[in-house]
Amino acid sequence: MTTVARAVKPYRNFIGGEWVESKGAQNVLNTNPADTRDMLGLAPQSTADEARAAVDAAQAAFPAWRDTPAPVRGRILFKAWQLMDQEKEQLARLLTREEGKTVKESMGEILRTINVLEYAAAEGRRLAGETLPSELPRNFAYTLRQPLGVVACITPWNFPVAIPCWKIAPALVTGNTVVFKPATLTPETAAAVVSIFERAGLPKGVLNLILGSGGTVGNAIIDHPAVRAVSFTGSNEIGAQIYARGAARMIRVQCEMGGKNPVVVMADADLDVAVEATAQGAFGSTGQRCTATSRVIVEEPVADVFVERLAARTRRIRVGNGAAEGVDMGPAVDDQQLDTDLRYLEIGRSEGATLVCGGERLAGGDYDQGFYVAPTVFDHVTTGMRLAQEEIFGPVVSVVRVRDFDEAVAAANSVRYGLSSAIFTRDSTNVFRFVDEIEAGIVHVNSGTPGGEAQLPFGGTKDTGVGPREQGSSAVEFFTEVKTVYVDYTGAPRKSSIY
Ligand code: NAP
Repeated sequence: MTTVARAVKPYRNFIGGEWVESKGAQNVLNTNPADTRDMLGLAPQSTADEARAAVDAAQAAFPAWRDTPAPVRGRILFKAWQLMDQEKEQLARLLTREEGKTVKESMGEILRTINVLEYAAAEGRRLAGETLPSELPRNFAYTLRQPLGVVACITPWNFPVAIPCWKIAPALVTGNTVVFKPATLTPETAAAVVSIFERAGLPKGVLNLILGSGGTVGNAIIDHPAVRAVSFTGSNEIGAQIYARGAARMIRVQCEMGGKNPVVVMADADLDVAVEATAQGAFGSTGQRCTATSRVIVEEPVADVFVERLAARTRRIRVGNGAAEGVDMGPAVDDQQLDTDLRYLEIGRSEGATLVCGGERLAGGDYDQGFYVAPTVFDHVTTGMRLAQEEIFGPVVSVVRVRDFDEAVAAANSVRYGLSSAIFTRDSTNVFRFVDEIEAGIVHVNSGTPGGEAQLPFGGTKDTGVGPREQGSSAVEFFTEVKTVYVDYTGAPRKSSIY
């Protein structure tokens, strides 16, 4: 730790309802990716013992929380919903300062989160089981949903408000207690989210925050015998490790991971609409969205004009500090993500793709203080290229030219991922065939790949996701156990176990 760093405030863990300083010897300096001279704080690398203490606190809080009526649990989430709405401006500014997206994008993330909280809070008055007819006389058969116990929520840095909340809120309303481990890059936003739940009135220990490295605190949480489920969002590499670790303990694991989301543009599409949606999908949040548009698959007859318009639109994007007025795209989140972006720009060139615009690190003036890369379009990308196969997580979009619908769908499906997808066409046959044939968890027709609503399920197929979808009513599936109940009210012994 440098002398300067010592002057910066350390973040605390939230364990058993108390904000406690970590005893971990290491800290990670949290800086603004738009200007690394701006230091936000020090993220402790908590110890495995501290992670276990967070699970212990959640375990101790579980019985009382489980026995709290679901509508009462929901009421606390309504309060959190209200607080987040009241505090959205300052939260948006913090999110921009810590993660780098523009304030407008941060506000978009927070508004989405407010919807998530509203939906989950109302779940407290739904939480329905099923009542089914019995094949026996005077036998009442029904199901109910019960919480699992302590659940772990492990989240990435790119949506540090929305993703934690779309895990934590359904976990809580269904009666679980939570240990939340956010990404090391976004500890302050994580603490702000937890503070909202705390002030909303959650009892001590129901939600716990532990900061630290995945390898140390993540593993300690997953291995703790009290943890009954892990909801993870992040990279495939880490997701595979977490899935295997959870499987060894036979606990429930949900992983939402990478994407390589395609937009298909048919020759009959409204090209202006398709260009705008592609630019927003590819460069919004600096391409650091799991649902970012990273491939545009265009029918050959309109490919030249599409690329020309996309390039013109891309050149108009103003890159800079997301806190400044008029900026459209912020920096990469850190030096490592910047290196990844620059590496893929090099890979694209060396694979023989045509660089249409961008393709470089932005330098000079304020750019030298942050991690800025130019929004980039490559044309004549083929499906076998790494550019078309691998998740970059940066502002880079590849145009793949195809002859017809069948070739477009084959190209779209030629990757290991299956998160979001989009088609632009006026032909209803194309629309419905695309919906049938695309291998993706989310399909947009005539709108871009990002976006989603709180009441609808969210998640992917193939290597993108395992476990039930997040959000909407399917979130409840993951966080509850179904119990099947038979109540015999004949008052007499049955003749046999069957009839
Ligand atoms: P990441 O490196 O996989 O990290 C995700 C989280 O896992 C972080 O909190 C990380 O902690 C933690 N972690 C790391 N190693 C761990 C371990 N051994 N055990 C337990 N936890 C561990 O992902 P990221 O770079 O933050 O996020 C980018 C990725 O997320 C992209 O691939 C993106 O597509 C994906 N993503 C997917 C969705 C979706 O819904 N499908 C949504 C958003 C993002 P540290 O930060 O301390 O390393």
